[in-house]
Amino acid sequence: MASDEKTWLLEQRAHRCVENLSKHRFDAHYLETGAEVSEKVKPFLEAADTVGFGGSDTVRSLGLHALAEEMGKTVYDHHRPDLSYDETLAMRKGQQGCDLFFTSANALSETGEIINVDGIGNRTSAMAFGPSRVVVVAGINKIASGLHGALRRIREVAGPMRAKSLGVETPCAVTGVCSDCNAPMRICNITTILHRKPMLTEVTVFVVGEELGF
Ligand code: SF4
Repeated sequence: MASDEKTWLLEQRAHRCVENLSKHRFDAHYLETGAEVSEKVKPFLEAADTVGFGGSDTVRSLGLHALAEEMGKTVYDHHRPDLSYDETLAMRKGQQGCDLFFTSANALSETGEIINVDGIGNRTSAMAFGPSRVVVVAGINKIASGLHGALRRIREVAGPMRAKSLGVETPCAVTGVCSDCNAPMRICNITTILHRKPMLTEVTVFVVGEELGF
């Protein structure tokens, strides 16, 4: 359990991150708990017909897929286990033009940038252009001090843990260390940095004061 001082320090960091994201024209908010996210995103879901989900343990753990389905939305979720290869491809393509797209971030910089890596690119593309609104949900553990720290976090923490969780054949999934591999299943072929809000996409960011995802 974190000490009061550690909690305080992380919250200060999260508030600086939200402040700097807001300066960069992102619609950024701090929430104390992940349980608050569902209520916050309901108005966005009500306004959307089609909803896409990037691969994200954080978003899945908050039950947002189920919520979108309960609300009768057309959901593009390529992680459904019953899908054929062609069907997962169609889901990934559907994400590119949906009304509302949910994802997490591999890292947020305290200086106000959103950083993600991707193996295929459906998530990183949809975050930048296509959906009218993107909602990013990120736990306090995703915040790094600056852009270089964020990229380092992805190499040292998010990449190996994500590869392990997906069960892909990459060196990091065995050793826990990134070797900048050439594996066919490499999960970080593409890196996107949202330095500022993309011109034609509304981006809402919920920074949650709990550890979520990798
Ligand atoms: S480059 Fe390869 S080893 Fe490094 S995190 Fe990505 S998949 Fe893992």
